[in-house]
Amino acid sequence: MSKPPRTGRLYSDRVSVLGTENAFKIGPHIARLESEGHEVIRLNLGEPDFDIPPFVRDEVKRQLDLGNTHYCDPKGILPLRKAIVKNMKEMRGLEVSPEQVVVFPGGKPSIGFSQEVYCNAGDEVIYPSPGFPIYESFPAYLGAVPVPLHLSEESNFTFRPEQLASLITERTRLIIINFPSNPTGGVADRELITAIAEVIKKKCPPEVRVYSDEIYEKIIFDGLKHISISTVPGMRERTIISSGFSKTFAWTGGRIGYAVFPTEDEANTFKNLNINYFSCVPPFLQEGARVALEHPESKAAVAHMVETFQHRRDVIVKRLNAIDGIRCKTPGGAFYLFPNIAGVCEKLGAIEACKALPAETRARTSPATLFQMFLLYNHHVATLDRNSFGRIGAEGKHYLRLSIASELSTLEEGVRRLGAAAKDAAGFEQFMKTIGPDVV
Ligand code: PLP
Repeated sequence: MSKPPRTGRLYSDRVSVLGTENAFKIGPHIARLESEGHEVIRLNLGEPDFDIPPFVRDEVKRQLDLGNTHYCDPKGILPLRKAIVKNMKEMRGLEVSPEQVVVFPGGKPSIGFSQEVYCNAGDEVIYPSPGFPIYESFPAYLGAVPVPLHLSEESNFTFRPEQLASLITERTRLIIINFPSNPTGGVADRELITAIAEVIKKKCPPEVRVYSDEIYEKIIFDGLKHISISTVPGMRERTIISSGFSKTFAWTGGRIGYAVFPTEDEANTFKNLNINYFSCVPPFLQEGARVALEHPESKAAVAHMVETFQHRRDVIVKRLNAIDGIRCKTPGGAFYLFPNIAGVCEKLGAIEACKALPAETRARTSPATLFQMFLLYNHHVATLDRNSFGRIGAEGKHYLRLSIASELSTLEEGVRRLGAAAKDAAGFEQFMKTIGPDVV
């Protein structure tokens, strides 16, 4: 009998370059510390510390009792798509049809799907960096080219329209924007959004799509209103509006998100991806999502959560700025703080320590990562480093992301520990001599 040919590999090239979301990867480190008896303060979490509104929970239970547990429309159940259409009209003044709406299991799937749908190999995807890691994780997987649009601290983690203009080429197929932003909380006002839209209309042919990730649309502070780029004249036809229920309704485990597409035909193309990947989103959860949008008490429940985040933001930003070596902007939305920790990295010798690492380790880490892991292992506070939000061009940028989705007292203790770590040069040196190089 002839032997089968040997290929010498198990995985495709494609899957070996797929990135990931470190928020999920840090879990085993936390579990390890907790199993050793340490109490870890988790400021790494990207989910609100609130429960879903009781009327949503009750509707999901009721639907289960009704036996609404079968396959359903792969595009999303019509009552939910109609509720989304109504919400689009109320929040953005947009007239869209339910046929332009597709429901996904969370806000996340349409990020990768958009790149699959619009990009061939060699096409370019512009995305914010720092930004949600999935934006940068997909292009290489598809043979497309990732083009980071760097957000600067000086512009409150937005970008200048000229900056975007300089990145647009004839290979640009997709431009991702995200306001309010993860991980910085940056928000763009109408003037900036309009200027961004003008650049896109001037420099891009009509088939280039803007993927506007608006999942934090309702978590916005200081009385500001969310401005969607789709509301600028001429942009509805080019914009995919993506949003969902994970953040607004503190329902990350519900896995319901949606996108509104420029045309019905595009929506149907995404529906076909749904059919290929997972058939449909559970109908009893979609009914819960419908109630979340329609219930008269929803607005108050969301407003309460947003006020709580705003109060925590005010207290914690002040405390962070009181730590020597830390500088923190006040975010306009979402529930993250993104302090600049360059001063701490200098003081503790993290920049030098990083340079001294073997080349292979150095290639996957950064001074902020060393501090992040030192803070976790020696002072028991979990955060995420700058590199968790896009690595391309992030060298020399020293930031951490802290989530404020915890009780104020927990946040205060987390910042107290952070302040202690920022002064603990001896502890850092010891960390780098022992466990550091293995965990960074
Ligand atoms: N987009 C951004 C900017 C996010 O921060 C997140 C989650 O953290 C998502 C999309 C994905 O949300 P979901 O959990 O609904 O898939």
